[in-house]
Amino acid sequence: MQLLDGKSTSKAIREELSQAVHQRRKSGKKTPHLAAVLVGNDGGSLTYVGAKVKACKKIGFESTLIHKEDSITEDQLLALVDELNKDDNIDGFIVQLPLPAHIDEKKVTLAIDPKKDVDGFHPMNLGNMVLNLPGFLPATPAGMLELFKRYEIETEGKHCVVIGRSHIVGAPMSIMMGRNTFPGNSTVTLTHSRTKNLKAITLQADIIITAIGKPGFLTADMIQPGTILMDVGITRVEDDTKKKGYHLSGDVDFENVAPKCSYITPVPGGVGPMTIVSLMMNTLKAMELNGK
Ligand code: NAD
Repeated sequence: MQLLDGKSTSKAIREELSQAVHQRRKSGKKTPHLAAVLVGNDGGSLTYVGAKVKACKKIGFESTLIHKEDSITEDQLLALVDELNKDDNIDGFIVQLPLPAHIDEKKVTLAIDPKKDVDGFHPMNLGNMVLNLPGFLPATPAGMLELFKRYEIETEGKHCVVIGRSHIVGAPMSIMMGRNTFPGNSTVTLTHSRTKNLKAITLQADIIITAIGKPGFLTADMIQPGTILMDVGITRVEDDTKKKGYHLSGDVDFENVAPKCSYITPVPGGVGPMTIVSLMMNTLKAMELNGK
């Protein structure tokens, strides 16, 4: 069994990105600038956005955190998105989800200029993804593709079972794994909460991607020996032995499943760090796509 180490892989990519920024500066080109909009004070979102902004600064990107109270109206947020769309100094931006219930997330996603949509959630970018055209791939699935690439894991002809069909992870990942490219060319089964007899399906998988948010859900009896496993789930589980009072758990019963796998991502330190680095790769790509 080999660990797919997202922490060290993302570190290597950050060094490459840092070099690219340095080269851009040397040739008089603009420094990439990512903005992140955060609404409200949700602990998880604060941590995620903070990590994204910090990671950008570390590699020499400019980054701006725009933090708004959750009393912001939908119109005010849409006006802010419009401002960022028009701001030449901002190359890409994200609006951290989830948003408060009084704001329509779909409206906000649609308002983002697809050329600056580095989260890759706009329908234009999702369409380009399906057609394998240039655009932004959603950050978490793109991070997993990068892991397949960097570890040179063959995906062609393999049966890939994706568990979870969210618009940001499971659904796009299922499409990306089936595209005629590398990584891709897999035979894909997309499973979800209404799937019957999931175990019969996962037992046929060469590759399993879990993105459901249920700690320890995938157990050793559900996989065949040699499975390649990517665990997207991140859930806080109460834990009195930890200073913070919790530990992070993936969707996989790691202790018992890992020995049966050929490759597996740990949680934390697997898919998570790759998501952040994908966002930065997309921001650099935004500059190239926009001719800057
Ligand atoms: P979600 O929370 O929006 O939806 C959960 C999905 O799981 C649904 O599609 C549902 O059909 C499926 N599901 C639920 N129970 C199931 C069952 N018993 N069998 C099969 N499918 C079932 O999904 P999400 O936003 O993709 O988040 C999933 C997990 O991934 C969460 O823990 C989240 O925190 C984590 N996440 C991690 C990253 C990262 O960077 N590592 C990024 C995004 C999300």
